[in-house]
Amino acid sequence: SKPIVAIVGRPNVGKSTLFNALAGEKISIVKDHPGVTRDRIYADVTWLTNQFTMIDTGGIEPESKDLMLSHMRQQAEIAIETADVIMFIVDVRQGLVDADFKVADMLRRSGKPIVLVVNKVDNFDKFMPDVYEFYNLGIGDPHPVSASSKLGLGDMLDEVIKFF
Ligand code: GDP
Ligand code: MG
Repeated sequence: SKPIVAIVGRPNVGKSTLFNALAGEKISIVKDHPGVTRDRIYADVTWLTNQFTMIDTGGIEPESKDLMLSHMRQQAEIAIETADVIMFIVDVRQGLVDADFKVADMLRRSGKPIVLVVNKVDNFDKFMPDVYEFYNLGIGDPHPVSASSKLGLGDMLDEVIKFF
């Protein structure tokens, strides 16, 4: 059967936008209001000759910081249990935050292949210095993308399929 790729990351980093960009259709709802995104959504993706199943683990994401961490722990556990490759999404606009380090630690300990995706890099010249900051997570090279402008997605997918 097809490899499974799970998308993990804090609320609002752009997981659903990225999922929709890769799925090529609106399956996962991008929220205007809290709680609009449906739970764990699957799509089949083809990249070059590779096919995989993608999961948006975001689901309904909490607003409060306390609940956010336990929610992210659940996301990470789902990804670690079910995925062959984990795409960990961070947000260049918000920069590195504590929750990113906590989730990165969990994912690293799992030993699963991780592709670190830095989203909202809508302008590569302008934001590249900020992208390098994410090396501090200690989970490898940060891959810049703009999910909303569909920039960098091919290079990112090349990294994902290397692990199949
Ligand atoms: P999720 O909570 O991680 O699923 O994030 P969403 O996909 O719902 O996106 C959260 C917000 O970030 C929305 O307002 C999106 O339009 C915005 N967003 C997503 N991707 C990008 C991007 O590449 N660039 C910018 N500037 N905004 C983005
Ligand atoms: Mg979402």
